[in-house]
Amino acid sequence: MTTASTALDERAARSDADDELAPLAERFLLPADVVYLDGNSLGPLPAAVPAALADVVTRQWGTDLIGSWNANGWWEAPLRVGDGIGRLIGAAPGRTVAGDSTSVQLFTALSAATALRPGRRLLVTDPGHFPTDRYLAEAVARRQDLEVRRIPPPGLEEFLATEGEWVVAVSYSPVDFRTGELYDMAALTEATHRAGALAVWDLCHAAGAMPLHLDALDVDFAVGCGYKFLNGGPGAPAYLYAADRHHARLETPLTGWNGHANPFGMDREYTPAPGIARARIGTPPILSLLALEAALTAFDGVDLARVRAKSLSLTAFFLDCASELLAPLGVEAVTPFDPARRGSHVALRHPHAHGLTRALAQRGVIIDMRAPDLLRFGVNALYTTHRDLLTAAHRLRDILRATAYDPTPPPTGPVT
Ligand SMILES: *Cc1c(COP(=O)(O)O)cnc(C)c1O
Repeated sequence: MTTASTALDERAARSDADDELAPLAERFLLPADVVYLDGNSLGPLPAAVPAALADVVTRQWGTDLIGSWNANGWWEAPLRVGDGIGRLIGAAPGRTVAGDSTSVQLFTALSAATALRPGRRLLVTDPGHFPTDRYLAEAVARRQDLEVRRIPPPGLEEFLATEGEWVVAVSYSPVDFRTGELYDMAALTEATHRAGALAVWDLCHAAGAMPLHLDALDVDFAVGCGYKFLNGGPGAPAYLYAADRHHARLETPLTGWNGHANPFGMDREYTPAPGIARARIGTPPILSLLALEAALTAFDGVDLARVRAKSLSLTAFFLDCASELLAPLGVEAVTPFDPARRGSHVALRHPHAHGLTRALAQRGVIIDMRAPDLLRFGVNALYTTHRDLLTAAHRLRDILRATAYDPTPPPTGPVT
């Protein structure tokens, strides 16, 4: 081994030996021969889920049948699971509801924000925002006669200084889904509020990976998905957070019967339920919702400050692996080295990102790529080790050295 490799090897061994969170890996069922670095796209299977789901299907559905809506707490599940997520995002009970997809919840949040700021006409979004967030800002703007302004987070203050009085809401993500850059939620929320606008955060790449403080930061609305760092399974329900102060005037665009004040009264007219319950829409997907609830037990007793500290240790280590082992082979680190500006994945740039991602998968290292040239390595402190990351770097180095990958550009098709 080279000196660089030996030093990295020793560092991995030391960091993993000192890792107090290491036992948490037992809360996940991961194949032994796989290094899984794509939990920021689809979290792995938590060990608690198969038995919980089997109980929901066999006993609750199979035996208790429709009585389960009461007897097994199905009806309250969206609010109960919402409160469970609330614990991870700094939200007191009664402010978060689980259900639907992030896309639907964004539509709800942006529409509700618009109703709270009549007379204003601009929606601010990030040009680098996840596509669905950009599309939905456009969709809400079209329906409400607003205009979308695409302002990168570092330019927000300057933009608000001139146009702030017209802004309804600023819709950002704390972590850039491509580069892994972390933005300052507190500063951006404060700047938004100084302009009298509402802060709408998409927590998909942050919730479960770091402590969040929605209540303390006075965030207005937040949304996020259940299947990334929350490990709720493919297509797991998303969630919506709304600050208490907005509940009484919260106008949701999709006024389904589950959000009615008296849902079983089957009234002629819609009367919204008090509190966050009015953001419920239709009958919730109970199997998925209860799988997510079981998945959240992986966080029981876990201090998110420690999760964040380990995540930073992992990403710092991987950035060092990249600069020592991969930079000489033409791989460029895109994610900031400054820990205050780094989320929980590392993006590396290479023109053959697609072929490299596939070659890594054939060698048991699962990552993903974002077109055209970014390789994404997601870490989750609940189960990722420093050793995993060194293995990934070594395998990528070997593939690059041997040019053992297909240089054909990616086909267009579903991205993961
Ligand atoms: C993953 C992700 C989504 C996904 O939206 P769905 O409606 O769940 O498909 C949305 N926004 C961001 C920022 C994401 O990272």
